[in-house]
Amino acid sequence: MTLVQFFRNTGAIAIAALAAACGTTYDLPGVDDRVDARATAMFAEARAAAPRSPADPAVAQARFRRVASRLQPVAETLCKAELAQKGADCRVKLELDRQMAERNAYFTYAGPGNSDPVIRFTVTMLQDVESDDEVAFILGHEYGHLIGQHIVKQQQQAVAGALILGALTAYGNAQAASAGQGYDPHAVSRNMEIGAAVGTRAYSQTYELESDMLGTRIAAAAGYDPVKGAKFFARAEAARSQGGQLSFWGTHPADSRRLAVVLATVDQMKAGAPSGVE
Ligand SMILES: [Zn+2]
Repeated sequence: MTLVQFFRNTGAIAIAALAAACGTTYDLPGVDDRVDARATAMFAEARAAAPRSPADPAVAQARFRRVASRLQPVAETLCKAELAQKGADCRVKLELDRQMAERNAYFTYAGPGNSDPVIRFTVTMLQDVESDDEVAFILGHEYGHLIGQHIVKQQQQAVAGALILGALTAYGNAQAASAGQGYDPHAVSRNMEIGAAVGTRAYSQTYELESDMLGTRIAAAAGYDPVKGAKFFARAEAARSQGGQLSFWGTHPADSRRLAVVLATVDQMKAGAPSGVE
């Protein structure tokens, strides 16, 4: 196989893998002008709200346990219905992250072989939350990252992105060599690394919106008000702490589009429209 054939074969496979890995699993609800206007007004109102004084840590943690016990079975049932055939583990551990000082909540895989799904909240995050609806929406949103298979997809994208850039560099080097120019043997591996970074960052905003849609459905099914809960995401906060670590707002940028997706999802649920989510 010549390098050109290698490039063609690898490139085609990588592009197909990238296309499969990038998309959302579910269709996002359409946002019309009316919903957009409501979201914009609601966003501005939430932004203008006065700063909160932190809740007592014991009260904050009791709220987390209360909401988690009600929401977890609902989210797990949805997860199993959606992912059972893919063999995904839906038994998410809900934990407090006592090490991180930042206000944060996140979904990750931990434990042996990074295989166990975990959602963690920092205590400062819970102290900053004002209602059970807010905890429910944030928790539902984090479950959305599992149900949307976002980490799995990002890893696939990273591999596909690395393959494309690696193949392009190999092709460029082959051209340079045949033209009698010098070529850089390190460029292939360097570009594979750059490709991995590019692939990992792509479509993150789309995934956030998909998680907002799923979080809306989970919070509502557990008996909470997702619209009240989602206003938490409109708050203006520093993306980075003084320590330089990313806070919740560094990975979840405030954006009125997010409230629009929540409002449109609620409208869709009220209308009983099919969503693709059972
Ligand atoms: Zn998120």
